[in-house]
Amino acid sequence: MRQSQLFTKTIRETPRDEKSINSRLLIKAGFVDKLTAGVYSYLPLGFKVLKKIENIIREEMNKILGQEVLLPALHSKKNWEITDRWHYKEMFKVKSREGKDFSLGWTHEEIITPLVKKFVQSYKNLPVFVYQIQDKFRDELRVKSGLLRGVEFIMKDLYSFHRDEKDLDKYYEKVKKAYFRIFERCGLKKQTFLTLASGGTFSKYSHEFQTITPAGEDEIYLCQKCKLAVNKEIIEKEKYKCPKCKSKKLEIKKAIEVGNIFKLKDKFSKPFNFKFKDKDGKEKPVLMGCYGIGLGRLMGAVVEVHYDKDGIIWPKEVAPFDCHLLALSGSKKKFERKIGKVSEKLYQDLERAGLEVLYDDRKDKTAGEKFAEADLIGIPIRIIVSEKTLKRGCVEIKKRKEEKTRLIKLNQIINYVK
Ligand code: ATP
Ligand code: MG
Repeated sequence: MRQSQLFTKTIRETPRDEKSINSRLLIKAGFVDKLTAGVYSYLPLGFKVLKKIENIIREEMNKILGQEVLLPALHSKKNWEITDRWHYKEMFKVKSREGKDFSLGWTHEEIITPLVKKFVQSYKNLPVFVYQIQDKFRDELRVKSGLLRGVEFIMKDLYSFHRDEKDLDKYYEKVKKAYFRIFERCGLKKQTFLTLASGGTFSKYSHEFQTITPAGEDEIYLCQKCKLAVNKEIIEKEKYKCPKCKSKKLEIKKAIEVGNIFKLKDKFSKPFNFKFKDKDGKEKPVLMGCYGIGLGRLMGAVVEVHYDKDGIIWPKEVAPFDCHLLALSGSKKKFERKIGKVSEKLYQDLERAGLEVLYDDRKDKTAGEKFAEADLIGIPIRIIVSEKTLKRGCVEIKKRKEEKTRLIKLNQIINYVK
């Protein structure tokens, strides 16, 4: 993409009312725009990152045989009355002009359970794994953390349906692995811990995926002896002792809950009277699991972990582009033309080689301005074409996270970048 065509611009001033690093950097670099607290637009650069994250999640969900659907965001009251959750405090409610009650989806157990019930009668129809990637709405109170806590936000929610606990447990472990692959591909492997959390009334524990960063709204407790991570609720219940090894040596860390997996068992199948006929001819309740990841929160978490004083440093797989090609203006007309010609060809060659390139072809920006914007936007590889580099038949390459630059011969560049 040519930067001259990008309708958005980076913003010079740091947005004053933004407290969190992720929203400051993402707004400043032109990835997102804030409509009001907790409500964001994704601009072309941010949309590209969002789609990369979405595709990583989709690939990993498909690998564990999740079937993608899109459920309504607008829910009817009766579904929520069945589970007695119509008065949930974070749920937005809306009325039609004829006075019919609706709510905006903040989660989808109440929709997916009766839906899957329509297609499952016997053990032969189980298990079922269904997921969607969709907007959720929650009337959140503390919305000061940018993309980490939205009032409207995008979530991937997967629901699984099983004959028995053994099958649920087996799938639950598969989801754990898929989640780790997702966070690894998003560049958060080192910082993300599987954390014991409360399981509600139906399971002893659920699991959160907590990414350690000072920006986190949660606190996790890392056992220094057995390395178990536990959330605040659990550690309070356990009187500040590790639930596994009973050690009291705990390290407290701030963390972002990027994902949550939960064994629901028959919590929702019961109120919806969702049963199946088992092999032995008996009717039994279907057992469920649910598994969430917030896409915006994940994008915000990536920024909170990967940035420096100059801007964002995107991990490779979620970067909006693979490389940022900067054409610097020359001192004379002759060079100006040559730089233009070489950059243009390089841009096309790189794209043809399957690389995604942001091409800074703007003529009205100084080298300093281009460098500063490139650092702010944070694409992993920067390629510079200038009078100086061309005099040596080269371009200059610099990785965003390294100081070191190197000159590469023009004909070697594609291989080098790849
Ligand atoms: P929190 O305790 O942070 O409010 P939650 O327990 O309410 O999270 P879940 O209902 O389990 O979250 O939602 C699943 C996932 O959706 C979370 O792990 C998180 O990644 C994401 N998520 C939840 N609430 C928000 C929000 N307000 N904004 C962005 N992402 C969210
Ligand atoms: Mg919440």
